[in-house]
Amino acid sequence: MRAAVMRGGEIVVDDVPEPAPASGQVLVRTLACGICGSDLHALMHAEKMVELSRQSGAPFVMDLTQDVVMGHEFAAEVLELGPDTESTLRVGDVVVSMPMIVGPAGVQSIGYSNTYPGGYAERMVLSALLALKVPDGLPPRLAALTEPMAVGRHAVNRAEMAPGGAALVLGCGPVGMAVVAALAADGVAPIVAADYSPMRRQLAAGLGAHITVDPAEEPAIEAWRRADGAKVLTIFEAVGVPGMLSDAMGAAPRRTRIIVVGVCMEDDTVQPMIGIAKELEVRFALGYDPSEFAGTLASIAEGTLDVAPLITASVDIDGVPDAFRALANPAASAKILVVPRT
Ligand SMILES: [Zn+2]
Repeated sequence: MRAAVMRGGEIVVDDVPEPAPASGQVLVRTLACGICGSDLHALMHAEKMVELSRQSGAPFVMDLTQDVVMGHEFAAEVLELGPDTESTLRVGDVVVSMPMIVGPAGVQSIGYSNTYPGGYAERMVLSALLALKVPDGLPPRLAALTEPMAVGRHAVNRAEMAPGGAALVLGCGPVGMAVVAALAADGVAPIVAADYSPMRRQLAAGLGAHITVDPAEEPAIEAWRRADGAKVLTIFEAVGVPGMLSDAMGAAPRRTRIIVVGVCMEDDTVQPMIGIAKELEVRFALGYDPSEFAGTLASIAEGTLDVAPLITASVDIDGVPDAFRALANPAASAKILVVPRT
């Protein structure tokens, strides 16, 4: 089958072996798969990612000398149930799934595995237990945004904001955008969102940010102060480059909670005395749990989470290498979907 493959630090399109469903698994046909910033990151810093995963116990244990088919934000159609697979799923069902699968070697991440191809391939196998049927009428391209939007849901849940609080979201890439959408769904006001890109600020406003700010023109914290500086503030750091956390700590009012959801893969420095003097609280967030994932799918299906504006382009599998190049300029696009040709 056709797939866009990470091979030798590059993305190439090639034929790869067909996956076969084992017991408890389903064979699916990829209908749509979002390209994630983590995949761009993995391509550039794969070795570091594997090394840090080993240290932290995260399941990204790929052998980089072998092929990896990435893609973990997918919607797919069930083609076949594996042998002796008890499931309510039927052939033809459209499903999404948390990108995890249990095999003989333990739990693996779909999209960061040598064994299990991700959504940049025509077909995948999924765990029948984790596959969630997409409600009738929800287009697969929208359902494919369940995974990235669930990341925002989880970050906002991790924040445990007091009622009546305000939020400042630093960075309006896909992660920041998902945070804005989850905050808006919770009725948080005001939501202040900061990004250098006018296109991203516009998207953030469309998702429910009340105020958007260009940090080149005004510090994000000032925009919050102007809006409603009396409210208890929660800051979401969704940029993930060195210095951001330190800046957020410097800007934060006393006893602010800072949620770090931007993935910084490098060593970073903070001034503990700043945090101590202001009694700041820093929490880190990653991923989501199964109920957050299912809840996000339901919100997209019900229309309370309108993800359509986030999709700025779609490509077929042959277009993946070019899409990766386009995303190297992240300000120009939001979510690019891979839609394999049928
Ligand atoms: Zn992702």
